[in-house]
Amino acid sequence: MNIEDFHKIIKNALNKGPSAYDFINKKNINCGEKNQFCEDLAALLNQIKEAYECTKKLSEGDLDINCSKTNFFAMPAKNLQSNLNHLTWQAQQISDGDYNHKVSFLGDFSEAFNKMTESLKEKDALEKRLIEVLEEKATTDSLTKIANRSKFNEILTHEMERADRYQNGLSLIMLDIDHFKKINDTYGHIKGDETLKRLAEIVENNIRKSDFFARWGGEEFILLVPHTSLDNAAMLAEKLRKLVKTSKQPVDCQVTCSFGVTHFKKGDTANTFTDRADKALYKAKENGRDRVEITK
Ligand code: GH3
Ligand code: MG
Ligand code: MG
Repeated sequence: MNIEDFHKIIKNALNKGPSAYDFINKKNINCGEKNQFCEDLAALLNQIKEAYECTKKLSEGDLDINCSKTNFFAMPAKNLQSNLNHLTWQAQQISDGDYNHKVSFLGDFSEAFNKMTESLKEKDALEKRLIEVLEEKATTDSLTKIANRSKFNEILTHEMERADRYQNGLSLIMLDIDHFKKINDTYGHIKGDETLKRLAEIVENNIRKSDFFARWGGEEFILLVPHTSLDNAAMLAEKLRKLVKTSKQPVDCQVTCSFGVTHFKKGDTANTFTDRADKALYKAKENGRDRVEITK
């Protein structure tokens, strides 16, 4: 083969583009004795064809291209494939909430992508904080900062189920400030509010971690005491009664509370259970206030 033949082959191959390999293989070109050279050229064109197919697929968004490892021409496409696969994985991680991923190829795109990740991270943190605040608002009494009635009812249901299943004692104490209206009338609502806060503080500081204390409404509070018999709950109520009576208050008078105590019975509903504590409390009021009464 002379140089003119060679030029012809290359020219033909270039004109044929990726199908040059087939063109040569179909023996459209007479290679004469220089058979080896012809085969090398065909192999080279085969590699170019393969690289072309890979790049084409990649440009169409197919990330599963599979070019032979030794294909020199396919290297840039394979690099791009591996970067894009990594980017896909990173995007998945970010969408799962792991924001510690930075993209560092594709220039301006990387910068925009990293900015998007930062902004998602900030929004996510804000959303989490917002949910926390809303949850706290929905379950906490805004004045005393202890649990509200709705949260108490949730805990009560849960503890009643446990008491029913494991037969461990569950007691309930309801307490109400005596003549609170008079405190408001004499010292004003702001001092009345401070008295409510002080009472919540006294009880909170003198119960166990497993006990659950909440504002039932107005100047009425409720205390759930798991793993405790009726007698022991009455003793706890008596201890709290004395503490309230002898504590320093924001108002210049003695503040006392009445207490109603009861114990969980099989078959109780939240209503029958709290009604019994309420009855005991009513009894305490009737019998002169500043005292503990029980209802079995
Ligand atoms: P008793 O000994 O029978 O319980 O008498 P009492 O005056 O405590 O009970 P009563 O139900 O007559 O009055 C309760 C008062 O508590 C009336 C209401 O205005 C007041 N109160 C309820 N919630 C709040 C509050 O959040 N802040 C203040 N300052 N007062 C409240
Ligand atoms: Mg009262
Ligand atoms: Mg009351």
